[in-house]
Amino acid sequence: MNDQLLASFIALVNFDQKIRALQDERTMFSSLRVSIDKQKLLLTHELEASKNLVHDFKKDVDKKELAMKILDQQETEKKRRLEVVTSAKEYTSLKSEISVINERQHIDEQALIEAWDVLDSAQKRYAADHANFQKKIDELTQQAQELDHKIETATHEIDEHEKQRLTLVSLVPSELLDNYEHMRGQVINPVVRVINNSCSACFYPVPAHDLAILRKGKFLPCKSCYRILFIEDSAFE
Ligand SMILES: [Zn+2]
Repeated sequence: MNDQLLASFIALVNFDQKIRALQDERTMFSSLRVSIDKQKLLLTHELEASKNLVHDFKKDVDKKELAMKILDQQETEKKRRLEVVTSAKEYTSLKSEISVINERQHIDEQALIEAWDVLDSAQKRYAADHANFQKKIDELTQQAQELDHKIETATHEIDEHEKQRLTLVSLVPSELLDNYEHMRGQVINPVVRVINNSCSACFYPVPAHDLAILRKGKFLPCKSCYRILFIEDSAFE
């Protein structure tokens, strides 16, 4: 194997590391993109819940106001009858009924005031949520656009690298390339340094005669894990 071929292999391995880095980067961008969509959906649900709460409290207020109105009508009706009452018994009875209505009115009035307060704070919270929602959605939309652009750029770069790779591959000896491609499909680090006379991935000791070959700047598979070994420290980035 001549120096030119070795250089081609080194170039290919470095090149593949770059493609891998680009692919990892794109994967990260894509998962961020998915999480933005989830955040948007969550915000939309939260705002809907806030809106539904206002709606429910409004219904409660309406119900209580209607009940008050009915009590008012009943009171008016009984007072009108009181004016034309003919017997003392009927008078006492009406008075007592009005008194019951007045007690009921007092209780309902307190409940209505509380319901108004609850509605008021729900409306304020919804208004704040709505303003906040728009701000957050705008931020997320912008982030999503930036990520889409980054994903597009990374995809373009990966495609370009794949094209250029074919040229590099054609320059590497087929046996070494086969070993490399096989290992590349199995592990993320198919080519590793020899450190302390051992494979730096699986720590299996490299036999003395293999070390002698490796020291000449050649490549050999590890006897244990089959990763491609090299010694030259300056060979890879
Ligand atoms: Zn090994």
